[in-house]
Amino acid sequence: MNSIPVLIVGAGPYGLSLANFMTAKGHPFKIIGKPMELWKEHTFSDADLRSDMATSEISHPENAYSIQKFRALHVKDGNAISERVSVHEYRQYIEWVLQEIPYDIQENYLMELTRNGESFRAELDTGEVIEAKQVVIATGVAHHLKIPDEFREARHVIHSYFTQEIEALRGKKVLVVGAGQSAAEAMEICQQNDNHVDWYSRKEPRFYSEPLDLPKWIFNLVVKSAGFFRRLPHGVIQKMFSIFSATTMTPDNELKLQNITRFSEMPDLDSYDHVISATGYEYTLNHMSFLSEELRNSLEMRFAMPRIDKNFMSSSRDLYFIGPATEMFFGPPMKFMIGSQYVAPKLSSILTR
Ligand SMILES: Cc1cc2nc3c(=O)[nH]c(=O)nc-3n(C[C@H](O)[C@H](O)[C@H](O)COP(=O)(O)OP(=O)(O)OC[C@H]3O[C@@H](n4cnc5c(N)ncnc54)[C@H](O)[C@@H]3O)c2cc1C
Repeated sequence: MNSIPVLIVGAGPYGLSLANFMTAKGHPFKIIGKPMELWKEHTFSDADLRSDMATSEISHPENAYSIQKFRALHVKDGNAISERVSVHEYRQYIEWVLQEIPYDIQENYLMELTRNGESFRAELDTGEVIEAKQVVIATGVAHHLKIPDEFREARHVIHSYFTQEIEALRGKKVLVVGAGQSAAEAMEICQQNDNHVDWYSRKEPRFYSEPLDLPKWIFNLVVKSAGFFRRLPHGVIQKMFSIFSATTMTPDNELKLQNITRFSEMPDLDSYDHVISATGYEYTLNHMSFLSEELRNSLEMRFAMPRIDKNFMSSSRDLYFIGPATEMFFGPPMKFMIGSQYVAPKLSSILTR
């Protein structure tokens, strides 16, 4: 059996940022997962990121992977430079980062994690077994797709996470459900590809400039104070969620969606070839089936997720959780890539002490 001090499960912005800080400290670790899977395979190719340049970078102690540096080296056309990053450019940036990083990412999935005395036993999809002293779960959004019960029975429901399936639709009658940015982007791409598109959203959409466009000092303050978040009064937490985590569409969509029929009552689902459920994500431990049932049952819970302490550790010693699933503990920045700028330096110090 392969035995290591630290196993990072997930190679998205959170896993990679942590790996960069661990590398800088010279501490051995292994990182597994599909590199930047969400960004390479589950975002619409013809969209822009909601976060701007400075809040979309893979963290590094010396900021070695800044988008500015990438642009200076690889973007020849000065006109292309803007604060807003397109998914197309972001994918090129990711390829550059993945070429530059000095460690290997093992492109496998964790199938079952069990506790084995003082350490953990991780079984991968290849059957390989790794023993790790400390394990960090950074598996992001993929396991937590939310599809409301009323759509589960409909024919051909596609969650907006499956962007490639949506991009492949041609000449279909499609109902898009939701009032967020993914719904707006799904409607736009479906229209462009000659589908008939209707829209179902019980609530009036809110067109709002991105929360990440708040004055930088406010945003930086929120990120820096992530550790205090858990101590805030409930009312303040709710207010922060309403600013940073509300379901909104960017204002440019107001014009783009004008000619789409919006239903506020559920239409007849049978009359559609496909229902696109742009209904977001729901974080619950039970979705993390790669943690053994015994391990899941042993964890202390809060808000349907394992309770984590100020160092991201669960009640099971040496098992850590980071990323969007920790939003309820460390606040709205965890929902975005920028939260990794708080997590990576702090957790790498804990893991290497
Ligand atoms: C459509 C969409 C658009 C978004 N746009 C923005 C934006 O513009 N700006 C922003 O800041 N945030 C955005 N977000 C939020 C986004 O979730 C986070 O910013 C960020 O990607 C989360 O990083 P992560 O590393 O936690 O997880 P992810 O990026 O989701 O990566 C998860 C990693 O875990 C791996 N993995 C999953 N299961 C396993 C397993 N069993 N074993 C091993 N590895 C596993 C995956 O292969 C992947 O490497 C967006 C989210 C979505 C869904």
